[in-house]
Amino acid sequence: EPSSLSGLPAGVGEALEAEGVAELYPPQQSAVEAGVLDGESLVAAVPTASGKTLIAELAMLSSIQRGGKALYIVPLRALASEKKTEFERWEDHGVTVGVSTGNYDSDGEWLASRDIIVATSEKVDSLIRNGAPWIDDLTCVVSDEVHLVDDSHRGPTLEVTLAKLRKVNPGLQTVALSATVGNADVIADWLDAELVESEWRPIELRTGVHFGNAINFDDGSQREVPVDRGEDQTAKLVGDALDTEEGGQGGSSLVFVNSRRNAESSARKLTDVTGARLTDGERDRLRDLADEIRGVSDTETSEDLADAVEKGSAFHHAGLASEHRSLVEDAFRDRLIKCISATPTLAAGVNTPARRVIVRDWRRYDGEFGGMKPLDVLEVHQMCGRAGRPGLDPYGEAVLLANDADTREELFERYLWAEAEPVRSKLAAEPALRTHVLATIASGFAATREGLLTFLDNTLYATQTDDEGRLAAVTDTVLEYLEVNGFVERERDGGAESLAATGIGHTVSRLYLDPMSAAEILDGLRTVADGADATPDAEGDAFVPADGADSDADEPGFTTYTRGDAAGTAGEDDGEESEGAAGSDSPAVTPLGLYHLVSRTPDTYELYLKSGDRETYTEVCYERETEFLGDVPSEYEEVRFEDWLAALKTARLLEDWANEVDEDRITERYGVGPGDIRGKVDTAEWLLRAAETLARDVEGIDGDVVVRVREARKRLEYGVREELLDLAGVRNVGRKRARRLYEAGIESRADLREADKAVVLGALRGRERTAERILENAGREDPSLDGVDPDSSASAAAT
Ligand code: ADP
Repeated sequence: EPSSLSGLPAGVGEALEAEGVAELYPPQQSAVEAGVLDGESLVAAVPTASGKTLIAELAMLSSIQRGGKALYIVPLRALASEKKTEFERWEDHGVTVGVSTGNYDSDGEWLASRDIIVATSEKVDSLIRNGAPWIDDLTCVVSDEVHLVDDSHRGPTLEVTLAKLRKVNPGLQTVALSATVGNADVIADWLDAELVESEWRPIELRTGVHFGNAINFDDGSQREVPVDRGEDQTAKLVGDALDTEEGGQGGSSLVFVNSRRNAESSARKLTDVTGARLTDGERDRLRDLADEIRGVSDTETSEDLADAVEKGSAFHHAGLASEHRSLVEDAFRDRLIKCISATPTLAAGVNTPARRVIVRDWRRYDGEFGGMKPLDVLEVHQMCGRAGRPGLDPYGEAVLLANDADTREELFERYLWAEAEPVRSKLAAEPALRTHVLATIASGFAATREGLLTFLDNTLYATQTDDEGRLAAVTDTVLEYLEVNGFVERERDGGAESLAATGIGHTVSRLYLDPMSAAEILDGLRTVADGADATPDAEGDAFVPADGADSDADEPGFTTYTRGDAAGTAGEDDGEESEGAAGSDSPAVTPLGLYHLVSRTPDTYELYLKSGDRETYTEVCYERETEFLGDVPSEYEEVRFEDWLAALKTARLLEDWANEVDEDRITERYGVGPGDIRGKVDTAEWLLRAAETLARDVEGIDGDVVVRVREARKRLEYGVREELLDLAGVRNVGRKRARRLYEAGIESRADLREADKAVVLGALRGRERTAERILENAGREDPSLDGVDPDSSASAAAT
């Protein structure tokens, strides 16, 4: 009985019982026996949805009860707030919870007072670099989804972060939660932890392959689901689950596909199946939900999602806005949405169980691989693990799809009967070590080459490898790079060699930049310093409408702007905007130049070039050549030139955003989702902020450059042209309303305080509540609109 659990804050056992935890699940019981309540380190490798979170909670709560402090590391930002909400139910028992998100470079001092802190591994890494004082007080650290140490981009950060935490704090209890993987024993070995490994699940899971007229399950049973020629396999399986009553309810399905586009088209197709099976009550509620979805943003994705949801079907992928994602997840858990078509991101983390999981695509396009590549066993197992809703379904079903008997056999062998792959460290690669070696030196974890190698001995890589020399060899390459670029100083004194971060090296580490990004940014900014005139115009009012054409309010991005005295690039007939510094041979700092500079650093994921893009961006490259900071690579250097163009595509997206181009247009033009725009903008803002700090810290960079960097960043922050910066900074205004206010003659925050209220109301399309809130946020003494005649506003605005 959980109430017999000892060493927890008062009332926790009873609270668990009230939640329906009558007794511990077997893996949880094993964890307690292994000493998780007594501060023992533990690796729990158990299937999805079998209660790993409670194991972590038992560890954290008992540690806190002994006077300690716990850190819960999540793999994704979206999961951080979800976990925080989950843990906040312990606040009734005196346990405080905080989540650390936001900028990489803040030190998170306020978290010192929290008992449980939730953060991503990148955030924790950054907090260590910035010397967050509470790191030393930690007694328990949980690493959720620890099998992601295998990921070549993010794995090394988790690995090094855990090694640092354990070094700072030798008695630290480390609890690592993992999916079932091939080598959980190696992870346990690395972390000096007990191992709890189990295949146990709270609900039986049947896995099988559908081919022809039936699903063949791995236990030898069959379920008939006939699919006639011309019928869609997925649709039949989704319909079959919905038509099978269990406890008075048909069952929902999760369909996994291999791309965002496929998720969207699958959801659209499945509306026929789900829409035909809704009750009137559900239809009404779904219509409300669809309205809510449309209210999040007025993009095509939003519209498509709402259209599908109205009929009980949804899609889910990383390009969705986070509000959209959570609306879909909640409605699916409430059984209102009957089917979600998702990319594999949904399989990791977010708790959305379904009666039936359908793995429609088991291959996906992989650029490095150069074609369609089969998914990892681990991934497919995690998708399958989403089948079976506790308390609702007698069992869960996970089904893979085959078109012929051979494929059916292959799927059984490859996935259903196979063990998940072993996890392998990706640390011994230059990009990973470049950043972590610098940070390790800068934060004082190592002061010599030997010390560095000893520190790296505490990583999973060292536990796993049989090639001792490799890590040392890559480390030496990286040290040389850091020295050449002035981030690290090496003093060779006889046999001993000492290492120290330079001032700029410290800054780079704290800013959480890849040292290569920092070097690229500094090189780019220095080309300006060398090239004299850093600003297009000393007054900052350099850009004037070429032909007074800013009247096309819906398409402000298509207004052609040019420099007052250099009309060289103005008036192009394709209507593309250009803020170029044509006609001048000295480099001038423009937003496009800065956006390109940060977009070509390794900290930005580039947009892919699609067919036709090469030509398009090559043209842009020549037209706007004077704006780039640094040399444009020759077209004959194929790879470098392609990368340059891909960065230019990203830079153009950012420029469009800062030129007030509609979100919808941007998603269409660049083939991205609205969530991607946000992601690119956030990354660029962060990098420009870092660039500003670097430019200030380093000698020889013109002060005007700093101003230009800040302006370019602010325009991204609000997605507006320069003249709207003041207005857009007022809460609740935003880019579109700012433009409408500006056109009604209200050009600043000060104007808002003085303006005729009827004009304000007219510009805000008669929305009184919004208008009052905006007036209040602008600091107006009397924001009330009582007695203001909205009808008079149209004529007032026209004047
Ligand atoms: P995992 O992290 O392993 O994917 P979760 O921790 O999310 O799984 O657990 C899945 C569900 O099982 C949760 O809704 C949780 O409340 C519930 N649960 C966990 N342990 C127990 C238990 N001992 N008894 C009943 N329900 C439990």
